[in-house]
Amino acid sequence: MARMPAVFIGHGSPMNALESNRYTLAWRKFGKTAPKPRALLVVSAHWYLGATAVTAMARPRTIYDMYGFPPQLYAVQYPAPGSPEVAQEVAETVKPTWIGLDQDQWGLDHGTWSVLTHMYPAADVPVVQLSINALKPLEYHVDLATRLRPLRDKGILIVGSGNVVHNLRMIDWSAVDDGFDWSHRFDDSVREELDREPIEILRVTSHGDYGKAVPTPDHFIPLLYLAGLASDDEPVHDFVRGHSLGSISMTCYTAGTDLSSESQGAGAAGLPGGVPADNTNT
Ligand code: ZN
Repeated sequence: MARMPAVFIGHGSPMNALESNRYTLAWRKFGKTAPKPRALLVVSAHWYLGATAVTAMARPRTIYDMYGFPPQLYAVQYPAPGSPEVAQEVAETVKPTWIGLDQDQWGLDHGTWSVLTHMYPAADVPVVQLSINALKPLEYHVDLATRLRPLRDKGILIVGSGNVVHNLRMIDWSAVDDGFDWSHRFDDSVREELDREPIEILRVTSHGDYGKAVPTPDHFIPLLYLAGLASDDEPVHDFVRGHSLGSISMTCYTAGTDLSSESQGAGAAGLPGGVPADNTNT
């Protein structure tokens, strides 16, 4: 079985689920280019709680964990099956680190379905979500990611879904497709660190703009999974870069598939004015 790549998606606005822009086109291209996985394991910024858990139900529901968006967004269904077997496999793989099996609490949140509607529009690949344990230090997440590495050789594609820079308090509604200088600086520093030594990604937490770029860790932590999943000597490429609303980086990375952003044509990035960028309760 082909080794699966690992990927980090900067998901931005939930409205991306319905839009076609250079980010969603890059996600589609990734889904078409990567070998077809047996299952997807998604680490979404929006399942952030005081436990490490994996969804283990056969039929995960589509969760609308965002507020104030147009009705058509709440009509999106992502009916991919779950997989109790894959959930169990994930829990076994990382032992002695403990992962609980969630039978009925969660499902697929918008950090997952807004991306997968583009990556795997047929919803024919089983999906399980891994929670982000908010009680653990950042090092725990890098370590857990290294423990998940063997799954890449078993047909499981692991997707981190967050944003490298995510500061909703500093959003500039006039900067529809642009970023603040500090946001670009931090985004660049992450790229440099992933170029150099992904496993040392936490070096970026000493960057002068870290506090502004990562006011809360929920959207940053999915990136740590990509960094920990990249094996030694495996290059990490960005495959689309950009900013929305000043303080949201849309940059996406992959290890194991070369879709470097240089090969992507520039196009319109579509965040419509007046729509909250990522209006959620986390
Ligand atoms: Zn989000």
